[in-house]
Amino acid sequence: MSTGVTTVSNSFTASVLGVPRIGPRRELKRAIEAYWAGRIDQAELASVAAALRTQQFADLRTAGLDSIPVGTFSYYDQVLDTAVLLGALPPRFDDVADPLDRYFAAARGNDAIAPLEMTKWFDTNYHYLVPEIAPSTTFSLHPEKVLAELKEALALGIPARPVVIGPITFLLLAKAVDGAGPLLDRLDELVPLYTGLLRLLHRAGAEWVQIDEPALVTDLSDEALHAVSRVYDELSGLTDRPAILVASYFGELGQALPALASTGIEGLTIDLVAGSSINVATVPALAGKLVVAGVVDGRNVWRTDLDAALTTLGTLLGSVGALAVSTSCSLLHVPYSLDNEPDLEPRLASWLAFAAEKINEVTVLARALRSEPVAGALLEARVALAGRRADPRLHSAAVRARLATLGPDSSRRAAAGSRRARQADRLDLPALPTTTIGSYPQTAQIRVARAALRKGEIDEAEYERRMRSEIADVIALQEKLGLDVLVHGEPERNDMVQYFAEQFDGYFASANGWVQSYGTRCVRPPILYGDVVRRAPMTVDWITYAQSLTTKPVKGMLTGPVTILAWSFVRDDQPLADSARQVALAIRDETVDLQAAGIRIIQVDEPALRELLPLRDADKPAYLAWAVEAFQLSTSGVSDSTQIHTHLCYSEFGEVIGAIAGLDADVTSIEAARSHMEVLDDLNAVGFDLGVGPGVYDIHSPRVPSVDEIVTSLRAALQAVPVERLWVNPDCGLKTRGTAEVEASLRNLVAAAAKVRAEL
Ligand code: GLN
Ligand code: ZN
Repeated sequence: MSTGVTTVSNSFTASVLGVPRIGPRRELKRAIEAYWAGRIDQAELASVAAALRTQQFADLRTAGLDSIPVGTFSYYDQVLDTAVLLGALPPRFDDVADPLDRYFAAARGNDAIAPLEMTKWFDTNYHYLVPEIAPSTTFSLHPEKVLAELKEALALGIPARPVVIGPITFLLLAKAVDGAGPLLDRLDELVPLYTGLLRLLHRAGAEWVQIDEPALVTDLSDEALHAVSRVYDELSGLTDRPAILVASYFGELGQALPALASTGIEGLTIDLVAGSSINVATVPALAGKLVVAGVVDGRNVWRTDLDAALTTLGTLLGSVGALAVSTSCSLLHVPYSLDNEPDLEPRLASWLAFAAEKINEVTVLARALRSEPVAGALLEARVALAGRRADPRLHSAAVRARLATLGPDSSRRAAAGSRRARQADRLDLPALPTTTIGSYPQTAQIRVARAALRKGEIDEAEYERRMRSEIADVIALQEKLGLDVLVHGEPERNDMVQYFAEQFDGYFASANGWVQSYGTRCVRPPILYGDVVRRAPMTVDWITYAQSLTTKPVKGMLTGPVTILAWSFVRDDQPLADSARQVALAIRDETVDLQAAGIRIIQVDEPALRELLPLRDADKPAYLAWAVEAFQLSTSGVSDSTQIHTHLCYSEFGEVIGAIAGLDADVTSIEAARSHMEVLDDLNAVGFDLGVGPGVYDIHSPRVPSVDEIVTSLRAALQAVPVERLWVNPDCGLKTRGTAEVEASLRNLVAAAAKVRAEL
């Protein structure tokens, strides 16, 4: 194949949109935390960071990329970096004199100042800090970080392409505060700063700049679409500037594609994993542009089908000015390298590509486009993919046969009213029953025991003995406090998803597959590759042990199918909905076993229900339908007298409120402490008439809520919900809190419930 006539000068052929930054062994995470703890100073932190960047630049160049993103490095978050770039930190941080400490204060808060809010980056598991824009916000350009990184890369001889988040995405992701009007109205204040930035980057030697505008793959208002043309006409109209590459990812550009293409920008990137290439041919203006084709999946861990990718690239050749190969998005979302996984079974490893391997895939594809010999690499990929497809572990005939017999009817329980009556008889709870969400503080002893087990210093039996003793303590504490529905505290769980994934066939865990979730927090998502089979009961021994210590009901605690998938790398060879039904079946079997063991209440957590919501409105109903169906499948195997609870948190529930009602859980505990019970009105508006426990205090803060405060919340809740339906609980699990705080807070919670009960 040949790229045909190149009409774009200084074009490049192989790149990625961004790279991981926490360090192959989480060196940056450790250095930042050491800085926070006062163990190292800023100079030492800076030198760790510089060494990581230098090594990474060298690796990217050795791999054969001819344009390398710079400026995607971050001490915490790229959106916070952009807020700093644009001088848009709220004034409450002004008192922190040191710039780095001010930056970290904005990220994490300090004793006196609340941090910026954090929320999810599009439909990924990465969390960004939400910029706040007030009427009084004045923007100003602070380009030091990106200029320094550009200079550093150029000094190393790196073909550097600085990356910044674009003005439209920045404003669409920000939050208007203090009565600020629509934020897009502030574009005219930002564009001159970008103009200045482009000039500085150009003078510093940048040939290209990448301006990230992922917000353009969401449903845009007419005003936003118009802004696309306006902003990029203006920026591309400058003479003293690098070539402009506008990067989009996580979906299709839709109407933003022709809008962008008709501006004077030199290039744009399109996500060909989440979207298709057909639209490109319909936009004639692309014939004069560099199109950077994201054919290598930047956010999942599977090896690319190189033949299919070449076919996709081939369809673009005639329609674009120049073609470059890239990842579909930044590699921030995948682990560094399979080299860090020496113990992974070679066959499984051959199916995978982490960041380093994806970079190689990009360069192989770019070489193929240049008609260079890559037959060996193509063949190797073909063999690995064929091996994956043929692997018997991908398919469980038993699971598929069972699912085929379970139609939608098997997912439905009896009418809520009759369930309520049967459960009331069996449980005999007081009005306003008190409970908690599941986890209790992960004490030092728990962490020590887990580490000792991992290192082989203690055996399984000793570990189990220690966990049982934790459970006994948690049950005793709850008895002492007078809670009504108890939990075992989840000490045995490293993580609410990984714990289950480890017990399913069809999943494997990486040893070092860390990805940044936010700041220095990294997660190691388990990898789902085959049909999900529950090997044996997973939680029954722990829960029945806890139940044996008390006559009060102990809740069985499970994670729901949507959340398990949301926090995993999922298979790409079948629809997510199919994987969800398989996980649901495994959870359903567990609920049946818990019930048979005498457990009367089972909670199936779905905190990630909102997270997987598609970015485009048109795709939302189908997702919500399968998500709700999977939850129902997982919870409808038990009898009517078994009470099903669920728990939701971490999000605005507006768009999923109907789905929450659709889950049909007997009791839903839901984060509400910060949204002041508005969620109850929203639930009423969709006809929700089941049990509900709006969180009455915020567990994300160490503050102990007073009895009066909780009483006030409960009285407010009773305005919206009849007493028969109201539960009393914190707004989330307690595992990140200290024991003393938890005890004090729950004592007040129980006292508040008693006080309000007495008023009834
Ligand atoms: N049951 C889990 C816990 O209490 C729920 C966690 C969550 O809401 N994310 O930790
Ligand atoms: Zn929660």
